Amino acid sequence: MIDFINESRNIFNYAQEKRRDFHRHPELGFKEIRTSKIIEKELQKLGLEVKPGIGGTGVIGLLEGYRKYPVVLLRFDMDALPIQEENEVDYVSRNKGVMHACGHDGHMAIGLSVAKLLSQYKNEIPGTIKFVFQPAEEGLGGALAMIEGGVLKDPKPNYSLAMHLWNEENIGWIGVTEGPAMAASETFNIHITGKGGHGASPHQTVDPIYIAAQIINTLQSIVSRNIDPLKTGVVSVTSVHGGDTFNVIPQYVELSGTIRTFDRETRELVLKRFKEIVRGIIKTFNAEVEISIEDVTPAVINDEIVSKNILQMARNLFPKYKVVNDVITMGSEDMAYMMKDIPGCYMFVGSSNPERGLTAKHHHPKFDFDEQALSIGTALMSSAAILILGMEDNN
Ligand SMILES: [Zn+2]
Ligand SMILES: [Zn+2]
Repeated sequence: MIDFINESRNIFNYAQEKRRDFHRHPELGFKEIRTSKIIEKELQKLGLEVKPGIGGTGVIGLLEGYRKYPVVLLRFDMDALPIQEENEVDYVSRNKGVMHACGHDGHMAIGLSVAKLLSQYKNEIPGTIKFVFQPAEEGLGGALAMIEGGVLKDPKPNYSLAMHLWNEENIGWIGVTEGPAMAASETFNIHITGKGGHGASPHQTVDPIYIAAQIINTLQSIVSRNIDPLKTGVVSVTSVHGGDTFNVIPQYVELSGTIRTFDRETRELVLKRFKEIVRGIIKTFNAEVEISIEDVTPAVINDEIVSKNILQMARNLFPKYKVVNDVITMGSEDMAYMMKDIPGCYMFVGSSNPERGLTAKHHHPKFDFDEQALSIGTALMSSAAILILGMEDNN
């Protein structure tokens, strides 16, 4: 039996050093050149079979245990965000306007630590571990690029695991949900064409600003009046553009925003009502409209059996921690594309620490997390990988 807790603590310095190095040198999606070089080198040092350049800057590392199958995919994301860091730490970002503000620097450090830990125990691994370091998670399509690059083939994974450091919760908290965990996400754009004119003669115009206001208001009835109150969804108009001056009614207004849902029926209902409402209001006011709705990611749905097993294991591994099975977020994740075909589990590891002032949320210029979470994540992912590979033997 591997002592995951102790082994993870033993390599904490390694994890911290890697995390801080990635943090100092953040790179945006598909531009993770330096980052992927380091990952490639580290995995090679550990003796893994390494394939760089998958889906752009993605890296795959294969660690074969005492048998070849089954295969579990462990995914870690690599990209930073276009944010100017406001922390005053010695590992502050050295790339102006770019920052690891989501914790992906920690995810990569955990990925390398899991590889380091488990490569010492090859004869206790009942299958192959496929380490996947993915570029461009922040809405840029990194998962799809890696899938196109063949990440789900040769060998095809039987299971998939991923995790996110989670500053919504304190250190000592772990979330493993059985079922839906993160929302499906789409973006929309509504281009309204009215008839411009003088601000003092609205009767001679078709005012797209007034129409936009009706649309923004009425879209909120989808969640409050169409969705089953026991289900959930979000429709947010997040950008409104129209008009340039005080005395001209403009010709055009453009709205955009995001839609989040979990199950297929709710998603279809929301999209149907969305189009009906926009087209209905446009018709009422004799304007014209172009609607475009774009799929960003499907929902992250954890496999019931895989997540039940991991939940139990996490409670045994961390008896003093708060391990919950009901975390669900309207955030989205492109890991959903990998989990759509490969049953798996997406976990959350609490990483904030109010006593140390580490409470800023993800994507905030002061985001930072308690690095103890690196050891917790390493222990959790390592033991989950071993557990899932041996799952069929126990049934
Ligand atoms: Zn993020
Ligand atoms: Zn993230």
